[in-house]
Amino acid sequence: MLTDDEIDRYARHLVLKEVGGTGQLKLKAAKVALVGMGGIGAPAALYLAAAGVGTLGLIDDDTVSVSNLQRQVLYGTGDTGKAKAGTARTTLQSINPHTDYNIHAARLSDDNATDILDGYDIVLDGCDNFPTRLLVNRVCQSLKKPLVSAALGRWSGQLSVFDGPPCYQCLVPDIPPDAETCERVGVVGALAGVMGSLAALETIKLITGAGEPLRGQLLIFDGLTMQSRVVRLSADPDCPVCHG
Ligand SMILES: [Zn+2]
Repeated sequence: MLTDDEIDRYARHLVLKEVGGTGQLKLKAAKVALVGMGGIGAPAALYLAAAGVGTLGLIDDDTVSVSNLQRQVLYGTGDTGKAKAGTARTTLQSINPHTDYNIHAARLSDDNATDILDGYDIVLDGCDNFPTRLLVNRVCQSLKKPLVSAALGRWSGQLSVFDGPPCYQCLVPDIPPDAETCERVGVVGALAGVMGSLAALETIKLITGAGEPLRGQLLIFDGLTMQSRVVRLSADPDCPVCHG
């Protein structure tokens, strides 16, 4: 059941035929884990909280630094030095107090990832490194949890939904030796907002059953030309994670 406040709050969802009361109750029942509360996780969390997702897991062991503020819009100047996950919860609670926010101030590892992610229905990965992405993919495939994966650098971003084969490791079999980091090559802040919002949108579609999520497809967005394309991913029969 939705309370009177929730009926007012989600009025623009309730009139959408793809969401409605049934979809809003699915959002309320949903548990979404956010891996990384940075450039992608911050805007994604804002929209998922505002949308009424019932439980959000905020996974990040980092603290806010002043160079984060150019794109990590959950945090303010006064938050520098504070833990990201806890600071994020304070802001998100002020946006939507109906959501439960679980703080996981930890770096995901082989020791804790399964325990943490098993508590959620969907995982949204916006982290900043390949080892964690590959780990999250392995755990999601093993637990059969849909993985919404967004990444960005400079002026372009990528987004996909992995839900059975093909998986992230089919796309990235090995960590690229020349892996670029935002710290080294830079990134436009607004692009993080675009990709984080798109990741939140795919998550809301998965929860409500609306439309066609990017299962087995990769969206590539170029902010300089404002062109996007979607390519179909093929499963790797030799993939050690999903076995194609
Ligand atoms: Zn695979």
